[in-house]
Amino acid sequence: MKIIDGKELAKKIRENLKIEVGELRKKGIIPKLAVIMVGNNKASEVYVRNKSKACDEIGIEFEEYIKGNNISQKELIKLIDNLNNRKDIHGILLQSPIPENLNIRQAFNEIDYRKDVDGFNPINVGKLSIGEDCFISCTPYGVIKMLEEYNIDLEGKRAVIIGRSNIVGKPLLQCLLNKNATVTVCHSKTKNIREITNEADILIAALGKPKFVTEDMVKENAVVIDVGINRSEEGKLVGDVDFENVSKKAAYITPVPGGVGPMTIAMLMNNVVKSAKLTLEK
Ligand code: NAP
Repeated sequence: MKIIDGKELAKKIRENLKIEVGELRKKGIIPKLAVIMVGNNKASEVYVRNKSKACDEIGIEFEEYIKGNNISQKELIKLIDNLNNRKDIHGILLQSPIPENLNIRQAFNEIDYRKDVDGFNPINVGKLSIGEDCFISCTPYGVIKMLEEYNIDLEGKRAVIIGRSNIVGKPLLQCLLNKNATVTVCHSKTKNIREITNEADILIAALGKPKFVTEDMVKENAVVIDVGINRSEEGKLVGDVDFENVSKKAAYITPVPGGVGPMTIAMLMNNVVKSAKLTLEK
């Protein structure tokens, strides 16, 4: 069994990006990410802080817009529009969740697809589904990068994803299809899930249920990717996979923490640099 070390791989990606940012700066382009956060959400604050740290390390400038619960939809859209129109901003990210009285879908749709480094705008979603170059949602992109780096061939392989969210499961389906895997997506209404997961050469758990994937759900020598981030009762981070037991059976497995999590931020940085590089072509 081989552990897929997301932490190490993410470090390597960030180091390469730092060099690329150095080159861009020599050409007068300073990559810049704007992050909008609405309301007080402790987890979001941690995520935003980690993104800001990663930007700092790589040489990407970071602008933070922290808005109170009282911001209106109109004001939020206006802020996004202002950022869309600024030439010095290459990436715009709206941290979710936002208060329920606001329409997050409409806000995501408003972000210029050329600055949509989270890949949530329908134009990027559509481009991904027809296999065109686009910004790919960072977590699925991180998963694909991991598989590539560990030379895990996907062509003709049976891939099973548990979870069909817009930010993880669905874009992963497209990414795996684009790599010629045969993909099944399971969700909360799926029947006989164990039978399906047992056919997987590549099993990806993205449902948000601690240790949901047990040894008996996994085929011998499968590749198991754990996207889940859950807090145990003792406050520890645990994935959607029962790592201790599944790792005895899998050929490759990602740990939590230190697997998909660090890759998500690395791919966000990658997308900001990609957006900045695209300005050279204009
Ligand atoms: P989500 O929006 O809550 O979606 C969960 C999906 O799992 C839904 O499609 C749901 O089915 C399905 N599901 C729930 N219970 C199930 C069950 N018992 N059997 C089969 N399917 C089930 O979650 P998400 O945003 O995709 O996140 C999933 C997990 O990944 C969470 O733990 C989250 O914290 C983590 N995550 C990690 C990263 C990272 O950087 N590592 C990034 C994003 C998310 P229905 O559609 O039928 O409801």
